[in-house]
Amino acid sequence: MLDLSTVRSVLSDEYDLAPSATLANEMQDIYARMDRVVSPPDWAIYAPYVRAINVLKKQRNAVILGHNYMTPEIFHGVSDFVGDSLQLAMKASEVEEDVIVQAGVHFMAETSKILSPQKIVLMPDMQAGCSLAESITAEGIDEMRVKYPGAPVVSYVNTTAEVKAGSDICCTSSNAVQIVNAMDSDTVIMTPDQYLAQNVANESHKNVVYWPGSCIVHEQYTPQDLREFREWNPGTRLIAHPECPPDVVAEADFSGSTSGIIKYVHDEKPERAMLITECSMASNIADELPEVDFVGPCNMCPYMKKITLEKILFVLHTMEGQVEVAEDVAVKARKSVQAMIDLSRKLGL
Ligand code: SF4
Repeated sequence: MLDLSTVRSVLSDEYDLAPSATLANEMQDIYARMDRVVSPPDWAIYAPYVRAINVLKKQRNAVILGHNYMTPEIFHGVSDFVGDSLQLAMKASEVEEDVIVQAGVHFMAETSKILSPQKIVLMPDMQAGCSLAESITAEGIDEMRVKYPGAPVVSYVNTTAEVKAGSDICCTSSNAVQIVNAMDSDTVIMTPDQYLAQNVANESHKNVVYWPGSCIVHEQYTPQDLREFREWNPGTRLIAHPECPPDVVAEADFSGSTSGIIKYVHDEKPERAMLITECSMASNIADELPEVDFVGPCNMCPYMKKITLEKILFVLHTMEGQVEVAEDVAVKARKSVQAMIDLSRKLGL
């Protein structure tokens, strides 16, 4: 586990990371991307880290891939590419830099390493897991294959490399319906998210059977929450991620992956919107959509929130936190991830 006192002592020896209003002023161009959601005093704290990371990543020939659930200072301040799991996986297979820093959770870093085995992939905190990835092992995939002989296994990218290696193809929330529909079988096994599987089943002509995993952020929402919110805030557009239970999705005005949600809000520009997903999503798009008032509860992913500017700077400085995937596992997992990327490109997703 990363020892924060060691991290701080190493960084303070090398960098001037004291809050600086002067530096914050000099970096107004970056701050302008998040000034609706980050206060000036907080920006004065973040600015020295943002500058140090942006200088160091050039020296290391590194690129930072930031997930949509990162906090705004990471998402807007240091990420070179941002997006959902599918967009980041595709980007990991294309980038030319020697080092990838994954500003996201561990399965995403493994996916990057699987797709770019020759690159160094750095994880700012190895404890940044995912309740979905932790809900199933390779043995679970074997169990499902015994239970449903001949049915293809479509695994969400929120899985370990071993689970991906045991699957036929991966999917993300942005392509799950199309991937399942493209399988050459009436019955399709989906792992590990029971709610994504049920939501896909509602849009697919396949018999979708699934593993009982769930996301600890999205499973918290209930249809009653949405009904009450609508009653108290008439006119608010409710937009749900498909990791939410199906009865929550049914109450929403729209459901989509994080990139689907961003596109929907950009296209529709509702006066008021409540995003039924991880809290940072709304913060990250607030500045580019000043006409939309984002309202509602803030459910944070404790895993995503383990990633901080301080830890990103530390791994870039020390080159610790390198993610490795055993070659035999990586070869099989790559086939499943690549099959998803190829099919997504073929379907124009
Ligand atoms: S938000 Fe849910 S699915 Fe995403 S990393 Fe956190 S626990 Fe996993």
